[in-house]
Amino acid sequence: MRTLKRELILVNITATGAALLVAIALLLGSELRTWKAAMIRDITIKADIIGSQCTAALTFNGSKDAEEVLRALQVDAQIEYAAVYSVDGTVFAVYRGRSGMRQVPTGPPAEGHLFTAAHLDLTRPIVLHGEQIGWIAIRANLDQLRTLLLHYGFGSAAVLLLALAVSSVMLSRLQKSITEPVTDLVGLMETVSGDKDYTRRAVARGPKELISLTRSFNEMLGTIQSRDRELESSLAELKKAYGKLEDLDRLKSDFISIVSHELRTPITSIKAFVELILIKPDMSADRKMKLLETINSETDRLSRLIGDLLDLSRIESGVILWRDQEIAVEDVIRTAVAGIIPLAKMRDIQINETAEDGLPTLYADRDRIMQVVMNLLSNAVKFIQPGGRISISTKRTNDPLGIAVAIADTGPGIPSGDLGLIFDKFQRSGDLLTGKIEGTGLGLAISREIVDHYEGRIWVDSEIGKGSIFTFTIPVKRTSGIYQGIVK
Ligand code: ADP
Repeated sequence: MRTLKRELILVNITATGAALLVAIALLLGSELRTWKAAMIRDITIKADIIGSQCTAALTFNGSKDAEEVLRALQVDAQIEYAAVYSVDGTVFAVYRGRSGMRQVPTGPPAEGHLFTAAHLDLTRPIVLHGEQIGWIAIRANLDQLRTLLLHYGFGSAAVLLLALAVSSVMLSRLQKSITEPVTDLVGLMETVSGDKDYTRRAVARGPKELISLTRSFNEMLGTIQSRDRELESSLAELKKAYGKLEDLDRLKSDFISIVSHELRTPITSIKAFVELILIKPDMSADRKMKLLETINSETDRLSRLIGDLLDLSRIESGVILWRDQEIAVEDVIRTAVAGIIPLAKMRDIQINETAEDGLPTLYADRDRIMQVVMNLLSNAVKFIQPGGRISISTKRTNDPLGIAVAIADTGPGIPSGDLGLIFDKFQRSGDLLTGKIEGTGLGLAISREIVDHYEGRIWVDSEIGKGSIFTFTIPVKRTSGIYQGIVK
């Protein structure tokens, strides 16, 4: 497979090798030209010198003298032969070099020079006083050139190898700085795509481009990671919402079963008593009266229960009409007390009422505030023993401006574990007591809904055996809902 490393090595060898070969070829070309020119010059000078020294011998036909002169060439190893020709073209004198060249051309070769693969042939005229009296021809071998070429060959190979070695070292460093970060990045991508762990990050290193690539990759991982987290939290919220829905569903079913049980109980006893009267027409008038009284009180309980349930569901579903107006809370309390007094007298219970001066007027539904006070008062009357006392005190609150009503009784008190429960629907405390005392378990739930609507608070302080204090606060005006505009 083609890897980045291999590609880089291939590119390096091709580029470095080609550049060096071209440079060497150009250098060698020019060197060869210079060397050849120098050789021609050198041999020409030698031929001219020898030629001029042979003029006397040529003129006086002393070929022995000429050979003597020619022998001077033996110091030059490249000379293969040298021949002097007389003006008629015959060989006059010959010098044979060390290579032992036996045959020399019988006539003078054409004037000038000629390079063959192995020699340089050079012919010069011999002139005396402006008149040609013969030729000198010299053949020189190219051994020196061959040696030069060999040296060049070795030198070039050495330079080429050195260049390749140096560039390979540089390349391997470059390759390390490029391929290692890239390999790391590829490895990280594979790991992340395998284990989906988007918290991983790549280490930014190497050249600038790779650093910015790594940073972009890390940013991408960051984006995926935060999306992943969002998705997870959305799913968790969804789960929570689903759990809440399930809870609500359970509460709804519980509520329906409690309501149907609460409704069925009085109906069942009413039906049983009516049937008893019907099947026993000869029943005593006294007994009949007692049964009818029970039927009557059960009917009352049923109608109270239905009334309370209707109130609660209207408030909870928001379909109730709140008839808010300016009300003086002392009046409301006075009216409520007046309403409860006959029952309190029957049970020998005293009611004591105090109100602070200068209470602010409330902007609220008189009947609903009355309903809260009545629920608390009737509970107090209902739960305390004969001879007990109830005191209602009304005070002003300043933050927010409004009123606080506290209804304290000398009743049995409420176990601390039940204090948080009694404001819930159908929650009744004190098993023994509540078993005997009538009630729907809805009065406090309705009271809390009303107080909540007016942005107040309702709570109870109680101690077993000492009594209970129910307190509620109502600000002068609601700040939210449809009255918001009028408040300020
Ligand atoms: P109900 O009175 O119809 O049972 P409520 O919602 O008014 O329903 O009261 C819930 C429960 O709180 C009562 O059943 C009773 O156990 C307890 N409770 C309320 N008021 C008092 C009180 N003044 N003294 C003792 N217990 C009380």
